[in-house]
Amino acid sequence: MGVLRTVANFVFGMECLGCGSSSERLDPWLCPACAAELVRESCSPKFPNDDAFCLFPMRPLTRKLVHALKYRNIPGLASYLVRHSSAVKQGMVAQELLMLAQPLYFVPVPLHRARYRERGYNQAELLAAALATATEGKVCRWLKRKTFVVSQTKLSKEEREVNVAGAFVANFPRKMPTRGTVVVVDDVFTTGATTSACMAAFGTEFPLPLKVCTLIYDEPASAAADFAADCRADWDGFRRIRNAEV
Ligand SMILES: [Zn+2]
Repeated sequence: MGVLRTVANFVFGMECLGCGSSSERLDPWLCPACAAELVRESCSPKFPNDDAFCLFPMRPLTRKLVHALKYRNIPGLASYLVRHSSAVKQGMVAQELLMLAQPLYFVPVPLHRARYRERGYNQAELLAAALATATEGKVCRWLKRKTFVVSQTKLSKEEREVNVAGAFVANFPRKMPTRGTVVVVDDVFTTGATTSACMAAFGTEFPLPLKVCTLIYDEPASAAADFAADCRADWDGFRRIRNAEV
């Protein structure tokens, strides 16, 4: 049996997405050691600002998993990661989410149509669905992507701002709910530029509170810390305007 499993692992590529070992006890993506590490990493969720929760920090293991979710055609990893987040099950994120005005409307950051066609799914939408299942919330596709946005990862601070600002427009239903909280969902929070652009699309008169939840917080390195501070300042400014007008 062991030999057969090893052969199957070799032929079908069934190896741990974390360490690459062909463990016989994959669950089905991680070996027991990597699965335990994943749960440990989710014990201290990150809060990049007052309105944003992130389930996992960016670490070698979580980096591999989010990469697999986005580029290795493994959509099932979205619900797997949310389910394995102790932050969602019993930790601070769950508490934070439950303290918000209910129900929760999870709004995924939309992918551009071309990228959706290429990938076959929007990972933010899958994460939103998993979060909605965990909190009895709803998935609402209330945002549309306006322009094609090239990958943010290789751009400078200025290029990122230009690239993503104004990239989203609201796509609200005729009858909007009058109570509850909107939670914008994305895979990775780095500088907050993408989610800030999403918040802006809701407009300053949107009546419900807006929050952000992402799978991973990619804490800015010291070189990028200034940019993050700028983004936070923009964010705070935006909140002040909203709070003043609401
Ligand atoms: Zn492993």
